[in-house]
Amino acid sequence: MQKFIRINMTTLQSTITEVPEKYVGLGGRALTSSFVNDEVIPTCHALGKNNKIIFAPGLLSGTSAPNSGRMSVGAKSPLTGTIKESNTGGSSSQMLAKLGIKAFVIEGKPDNTTFYVIKLDINGVTIEEAPAEILGGCGNYEAIRILGEKYGKHVGIALAGPAGEYRMPAANISFKDPEGNIRSAGRGGLGAVLGSKNVKAIVIDETGAGAVPIADPEAFRAASKVFSKAILDHPVAGTGLALYGTDVLVNILNEAGGLPARNFTAGRIEHNDNISGETLNATITERGGEGKVSHGCHKGCIIRCSQWYPDKQGKYITSGFEYETIWGLGADAGIEDLDAIAYIDRAMDDVGIDSIETAVAVATAMDGGLIPWGDGKAVLQIVEDMAKPTPLARIIAGGAAVVGKVCGLYRTPVVKDQAIPAYDPRAIKGIGLTYATTTMGADHTAGYCISGNILKIGGFIDPLKKEGQIEYARAMQIGTAAIDSTGMCLFVYFGVADNPGGYQALIDMINAQYGIQLTSDDVDELGKTVLRIERDFNKRAGFTNAHDRLPEFMEYEPIAPHNVVWDFTPEEIDEVMKF
Ligand code: SF4
Repeated sequence: MQKFIRINMTTLQSTITEVPEKYVGLGGRALTSSFVNDEVIPTCHALGKNNKIIFAPGLLSGTSAPNSGRMSVGAKSPLTGTIKESNTGGSSSQMLAKLGIKAFVIEGKPDNTTFYVIKLDINGVTIEEAPAEILGGCGNYEAIRILGEKYGKHVGIALAGPAGEYRMPAANISFKDPEGNIRSAGRGGLGAVLGSKNVKAIVIDETGAGAVPIADPEAFRAASKVFSKAILDHPVAGTGLALYGTDVLVNILNEAGGLPARNFTAGRIEHNDNISGETLNATITERGGEGKVSHGCHKGCIIRCSQWYPDKQGKYITSGFEYETIWGLGADAGIEDLDAIAYIDRAMDDVGIDSIETAVAVATAMDGGLIPWGDGKAVLQIVEDMAKPTPLARIIAGGAAVVGKVCGLYRTPVVKDQAIPAYDPRAIKGIGLTYATTTMGADHTAGYCISGNILKIGGFIDPLKKEGQIEYARAMQIGTAAIDSTGMCLFVYFGVADNPGGYQALIDMINAQYGIQLTSDDVDELGKTVLRIERDFNKRAGFTNAHDRLPEFMEYEPIAPHNVVWDFTPEEIDEVMKF
């Protein structure tokens, strides 16, 4: 029997039941979004007692399916006011699945200031006061070490870092990876929701748990083999990401003229070689020591886009050093030194703050004169100050929309108050439609149109032209909502987009695990249902089509080198979500 767990932080009681019938066939984002839409009052304050936060492994999590260890976290977002699903790697998703936990929900709110640790294991739920040493600004690396000593090195951990503890709108939830380093459910401020419930950490101990049951093991093994081959045979999923990480995109986007620079005032930089994936690879290789060019953020990842970036002495600085972070600090904020960016990345992981939101907030603050352009030392200090926190640190941790208002700027790159990531929508129009219409605020992962617009994966649609983009952005968002429900890393899309056999193998694994007969039409319908549910929540929270718009400045400020503006009409944008 799979379990559905509710933890009430008002009463400090928990209940464990069978999975409600309506959630039995769901996992990951489909489950978190359904639950949030069912039980969270859409107009509630995201940090108040009426918000609820739910953690759910994907449908395939805990099995041997490659790259299936992602965890979805859902709640109303304090950053955007919309529904939010944020997903992450780390060890926790697979452990929860092995414990037979379909999902756990944290609701209510203590009426005191005591912080707690929630432990989930084979015996159920324990709620204990958090050790004082991990509170009040203790960094995530140290908190993971202390919790590891108390509960065992093998446990999975999810944490509200200092930013979450202080309920900062851009706070993420930090997850321990297999080596004790940090991955993040980054976007939308869900760390602040966890902090608002006085939950400092969730510890997951899979000791004594059995294997995830598979209805047809032989069919599962066969499908898994086909799926693995599809991924490993693909030049990006099987080779490029393992060599250069996601940072491979710096040179590609720079060449395409879609790399937003100096707070979205240009689409190309001169210092791209300083921060490119090629340089990242060469630096890690040359320094050696603890550096690793390729690394998986959870067991069973065969793409391995992560890495360990070392200092000049070969000592680990940071891991999961992503393109979006390097772009945000390196191009948008103009910090030209990869080491300086790496130390800021580490500090962001340590304090538990979303690296995209923070980098764009920093660049916006530079445009507004609060921080000198390109000043890595000043940015590092501000991020470290989030653990105190100082007033300026709080302003930056409020996100780019807050910073834009504080600085009196009209040029604030956000949609629904969430920062626009690393691809300029004027020069790459498909991703612009995703930013505008996704239920989550600007989010490239909600429908990664860079695949067809730039990487020519799954076809090619000219990024500078409008033709075909509406249908493409719609299809990518529907497909992504389905993939986010499986527990699969989004990068598996690269392996299956041009390989129908690989896509069928993904469906076959789900069918073999659960003994069902899903078709590709069913998967398509799942994605549509998820989006309808999320839009329903947002509508009841007060959002309309008028919120599905890019910032106005993009309509009249052309971006070099193509000198293009955002030119979709409101009526055209509204077509994306008609299905
Ligand atoms: S490909 Fe990258 S993000 Fe995806 S599971 Fe592997 S390491 Fe994590």
